[in-house]
Amino acid sequence: MKSANLIQTKMYADVHDKSLFEAAQHLGQDYLENIFERNVFPSENALDDLKHFDETLPTASSDANKVIQFLNTYGAPATVATLGARYFGFVSGSAVPAGLAAKSLATFWDQAPAMHVLSPIGSKLETVVESWLKDLFHLPEKTVAGFVSGTSSANFCGLAAARYRLLSNLNWDVNSKGLFNAPKIRIVTGKHAHSTVLKAISLLGFGIENIEWVDVDDQGRIIPERMPELDNSTIVILQAGNVNSGSFDNFNVICKKANTANAWVHIDGAFGLWAAAVEKLNHLTQGIELANSWAVDGHKTLNTPYDSGIVMCSDKEAIRSALHMAGSYIITSEQRDGMFYTPEMSRRARVIELWATMKYLGKSGIDEMIYEMHQRAQQVAKELAAIDGFTILNDVVFNQVLVQCNTDTLTEKTMENVQQLRECWAGGSLWNGRKVIRVSICSWATTSKDISRSVKSFEKALLMVKKECS
Ligand SMILES: *Cc1c(COP(=O)(O)O)cnc(C)c1O
Repeated sequence: MKSANLIQTKMYADVHDKSLFEAAQHLGQDYLENIFERNVFPSENALDDLKHFDETLPTASSDANKVIQFLNTYGAPATVATLGARYFGFVSGSAVPAGLAAKSLATFWDQAPAMHVLSPIGSKLETVVESWLKDLFHLPEKTVAGFVSGTSSANFCGLAAARYRLLSNLNWDVNSKGLFNAPKIRIVTGKHAHSTVLKAISLLGFGIENIEWVDVDDQGRIIPERMPELDNSTIVILQAGNVNSGSFDNFNVICKKANTANAWVHIDGAFGLWAAAVEKLNHLTQGIELANSWAVDGHKTLNTPYDSGIVMCSDKEAIRSALHMAGSYIITSEQRDGMFYTPEMSRRARVIELWATMKYLGKSGIDEMIYEMHQRAQQVAKELAAIDGFTILNDVVFNQVLVQCNTDTLTEKTMENVQQLRECWAGGSLWNGRKVIRVSICSWATTSKDISRSVKSFEKALLMVKKECS
């Protein structure tokens, strides 16, 4: 019998339309192959063409092939080439090809690993990757992991576990009683804590104004001697990788103090925790195993596709209690039910591309890839420092480089010109009250040629400002 439902008939036809999926695949691969040469930021024309998306929701359904072609025509040119080799903005990260391919395959599986019964493969890979990460970062055996969208969410989860545990130790069940009239929880963190840490603090009801700020040194590291007295109602938040300078807090000294006082330590290691996986850099992360929870991104230094964040916690009961879930229709199992480790119930099985990236690289590939980023960062610093008019402000211990010109105006205008030239892209920040250009090396694809080419663009950008001014 022929279905009277036209849209259903059409979609059954789409499933069998090889050209539809092949087009998406081919256009995607062409995009990837060309990314290393194209302008890193969209051209003015491409940005202008975004106006084609300004339409009301179509009344009639359209042809699936036409939807894909339209998206590619006006969408692809308006992307930022964060996947490429010369994107140094924020702390972003490219994607390892094997991870992209795994994501592409898994797109068709469309798995939601909330429960084992919803996705045995998702549940299995989450278990496997949890143990790989524990091993790679040398974290306590009892550590568990939750697979979330990024470090913003991972910071939130780690601090929620901390809140649960400390209040529980003080005979207060925050899940049932809430925060009103609860014993006071103290928050101690460095003056350079990342803004997403502050967001988590406010979401969790601690209040930004209640933070006990600790002074930092010239690299943005907490000065251990300035730490206040700690006790069993204190959450200490440390940093592996300062978002500007890339510096690391002194985990050994601070964690030992915190452990003695029964305080909780959370480490925001969005991009820097990966230093633990690099033989020549793991002196930076010494002592991280003494903390209680950790947040890290797959999509930054490890170069998985977006969105891939991980929360790890050595107190399984605390994180599961903080992110608890119940419902008459929930089917739990002996195996891993992922939703007990994340704020969401439904989410995509982002662990698949994380697993593929790690399996592909192996320990030595991860080490080599990340150490290369460090060396390229040192190269940027060295080549820019050799040019009159540029100064490097930080010790390049990892992958971040802070660049300054002679005045704030020169710095800002040079940065704008670098962005206009589109040979590479770097953004700005503030460092000790002065404007800086922040260069973050976090793509597997960046070669020493890419660095030299980018440095030339910086030099040209500075010359352009000087010409305008004279
Ligand atoms: C990027 C970053 C975050 C936020 O991570 P998202 O994955 O963007 O949510 C937090 N802390 C630091 C130090 C970061 O670099």
